[in-house]
Amino acid sequence: MEFNLLSNIVEFCNTEKKNMAQAMLEYEMRNKHLSKEQVLDGLKRVLLVMEDSVEQGLTQIVMSPSGMLNNWAKTVYNAKTDTLGPALKKATARAIAVGEVNACMGKIAAAPTAGSAGIMPAVLVTMMEEHNIPREKILDGLLVSSAIGLIFAKNSSFAGSEAGCMGETGSAAAMGAAAIVYLLGGNNDQILEAVGFALKASMGLVCDPVGGLVEEPCTTRNAVGVANAFVSAQMALAGIKSLIPADEVIFATKEVGDLMSPRLKESAQGGLANTKTGREIQKRVFKPAS
Ligand code: SF4
Repeated sequence: MEFNLLSNIVEFCNTEKKNMAQAMLEYEMRNKHLSKEQVLDGLKRVLLVMEDSVEQGLTQIVMSPSGMLNNWAKTVYNAKTDTLGPALKKATARAIAVGEVNACMGKIAAAPTAGSAGIMPAVLVTMMEEHNIPREKILDGLLVSSAIGLIFAKNSSFAGSEAGCMGETGSAAAMGAAAIVYLLGGNNDQILEAVGFALKASMGLVCDPVGGLVEEPCTTRNAVGVANAFVSAQMALAGIKSLIPADEVIFATKEVGDLMSPRLKESAQGGLANTKTGREIQKRVFKPAS
């Protein structure tokens, strides 16, 4: 069966009596001509890269060449004040850690993009730690998030130059929310509700990186994307419904991305990139060598 909509995947699960992770495992095997072991090995490698990037950002000196990012992950991780307990603080720090490693040209898993690479690792590492979820199950969570990524890529866009930051951190938050719901025992309908919530919260989010570098506001936006994922999953697991179905929300992100000004789509000409301070930073970073 071709998966063009999230509802197609749910239909397949219902007909075949499979969960979403099993459906996506079969999809990967069928479409990429891989064995089950090969798919799972690939996922294990992705998870390892995610964990390493979190670890690096939290333990090594990480200052981006532009100077915009300077060991913020450790600052957050070691902060004395928790707004909502240590779990959220640590998840926030983990997302920033990956953003900092990315800005320093370190190795990250672009899931779905480099700019939004902090959200999935922060979600998955936090789920492992807070809920004692075994690694094998986390791989299933990755498969579930891949379902959201697959359909988002088909019907909208991951590119900041096409869909703004809604396409990058918005889709990553939706993928993270889906994984959380699945890992906490939610059903397919709840997974889709969480996706709807996360994308609605990101609707219209512009891409306005200062100096065209994936640092500001990207890194802190990843941290907020993690909160979006957990809040969206929380609402879905509680039984609240997104009145607009997830597939329709995805189509709406495509429409909104198309309507967005090119100045707000990765060109570094609008939004935060075009503030007085944003322009000053750009001048300082790109000052010709004397
Ligand atoms: S602001 Fe633009 S470059 Fe930065 S994470 Fe968002 S989409 Fe990517």
